[in-house]
Amino acid sequence: MKVSDWGGIDSGTQYRCRHGKPPWRMLCWDGRHTGRRYLGCPMVGRSRICVFVKWIDEEWPTKFQEVACTLWDVNAKFKKRANDAQADLLGAIQLMNEMYEEKEALITEKEDLAKERVVLVSQKEAFQKQAALRSRFAHASCSTLQDRIARDVQDKKMVFAVIVCMIGLMVAILFGIVLKK
Ligand SMILES: [Zn+2]
Repeated sequence: MKVSDWGGIDSGTQYRCRHGKPPWRMLCWDGRHTGRRYLGCPMVGRSRICVFVKWIDEEWPTKFQEVACTLWDVNAKFKKRANDAQADLLGAIQLMNEMYEEKEALITEKEDLAKERVVLVSQKEAFQKQAALRSRFAHASCSTLQDRIARDVQDKKMVFAVIVCMIGLMVAILFGIVLKK
């Protein structure tokens, strides 16, 4: 770690890191050495071959080291709790999204069913109309046929009556002829 009043390349020192470069003024920011100044490799984080460390501050008293370690432990616990809480939150958000999607899908399905129902109802109505039309047509055809049959029967009756009359007339004429003789 670098801080404002302690940082940059220490060009005045005779120390050189394993890269042969003048070291960087660094501040330890982890564990029991927290806050201790040191000179470190300027390539830190970019190269692993160099582990040059030259402490500037003396080692902290043991009690302070314990306190520093405890603080980092507490920090780690809070970090973990924060991460867990974030994971819970993300899980809840995902669940909510899934529920929302499910709801949308159900609404779409319901709308599709309603549309299907409208189509079925209109089909049913069309069938009913057609059936009514056919029934009316059949009824009309039937009564026409009945009328025709009735007329035929009447015609036949009239022909029969005429024949009977003619026969009667002929019989009368024959009787007349016989009586004259
Ligand atoms: Zn180095």
